[in-house]
Amino acid sequence: MTTTFADLTTMRVGGPIGRLLVPETTPEAVELLRRTTAAGESLLVMGGGSNLVVGEVGWDGTVIRMATSEFDINRELVTAAAGVEWDHLVKATLDEGLAGLEALSGIPGLVGGTPVQNVGAFGTETADVLESLTVYDRQTGAQERWAAERCGFGSHRQSVFKHSDRWVVLDVTYRLRRSDQSRPIRYAELAAKLGIEVGGTAAPADVREAVLALRRGRGMVLDPQDHDTWSVGSFFINPVLATVPDRARECPRYPDAKGTKLPAAWLIEHSDFPRGYGHEWGNGSVALSSRHALAVTNRGGATTSEVMKFAAHIREGVEARFGIRLGPECDLVNCSF
Ligand SMILES: Cc1cc2nc3c(=O)[nH]c(=O)nc-3n(C[C@H](O)[C@H](O)[C@H](O)COP(=O)(O)OP(=O)(O)OC[C@H]3O[C@@H](n4cnc5c(N)ncnc54)[C@H](O)[C@@H]3O)c2cc1C
Repeated sequence: MTTTFADLTTMRVGGPIGRLLVPETTPEAVELLRRTTAAGESLLVMGGGSNLVVGEVGWDGTVIRMATSEFDINRELVTAAAGVEWDHLVKATLDEGLAGLEALSGIPGLVGGTPVQNVGAFGTETADVLESLTVYDRQTGAQERWAAERCGFGSHRQSVFKHSDRWVVLDVTYRLRRSDQSRPIRYAELAAKLGIEVGGTAAPADVREAVLALRRGRGMVLDPQDHDTWSVGSFFINPVLATVPDRARECPRYPDAKGTKLPAAWLIEHSDFPRGYGHEWGNGSVALSSRHALAVTNRGGATTSEVMKFAAHIREGVEARFGIRLGPECDLVNCSF
């Protein structure tokens, strides 16, 4: 039976895959990358499919789904292959007495995806802990070791890897700390949950449990029974603007390297799209999560076209209310809205 993207992505939509390759070691991945590139095949590299929405046409070329699973802990440096499940790595480092990744607990996907959109949550992002990584350059065929500075982190959820098919991340090294205290907790809701002041610290294992509880409350921990988690997490990216329109003056704002960042969830909820909106719209197969306005969710049997129509509807409503055009945070392949 042909594998589809609906089978391999957390949004559970998307058409057939021409040829699926699943390398289990890094040398095997490199060899497959060399061969497909040399043969001029159209190639899509994916991990856990938790930030990817693909059209009904699917991908008629080759898909490499990373399943490389080696990782190594050397004092405070942890190097993991791109195919290691992210939350497995978080838990393993905490079990080893290493602090640093606790606030990133429960995020779906694989290690190779973390630098692509500088994955972050609860005041910590990949850039805070990433030491270096190895990439395969599909233009030159070279494997290169990069320091974090080359990754182009800075503005919200951006990196040189996003929307580029030139570099494939083979492994990532994180610099952690052997400590019984977490990184300082900068996120007010998490600090409150832990009963500490913002800027304080706690036992890393306690931070993990608090983060997982908060994430579950928002439908942000994958659960096949829970349609609020049939999503890509945040579907829309928080807009970064040079000038905030007057109509949005009441929206909370945060400084960003490229301007002012506004929370897309606030803009959506203040455009008459409450959590859960959508059951009454279209055929009800797509709706906002009942626990988080940023997550567009598949309520069962949705198609990519239905997801795109729904996303366009939300974007138009926000634009009409605030004059701000929302864009996707996730990667859209052979589909758009
Ligand atoms: C319920 C839920 C909650 C989420 N919560 C968060 C959150 O709190 N914070 C957050 O930042 N994100 C969150 N996400 C989004 C997602 O989990 C992350 O972006 C994750 O890092 C994606 O990893 P992946 O392996 O699933 O990548 P995929 O979805 O498979 O791929 C995403 C993109 O990365 C590229 N890519 C993947 N692997 C590689 C590689 N090895 N080399 C080069 N390019 C590659 C793909 O080509 C694609 O463009 C959430 C998603 C869901 C479903």
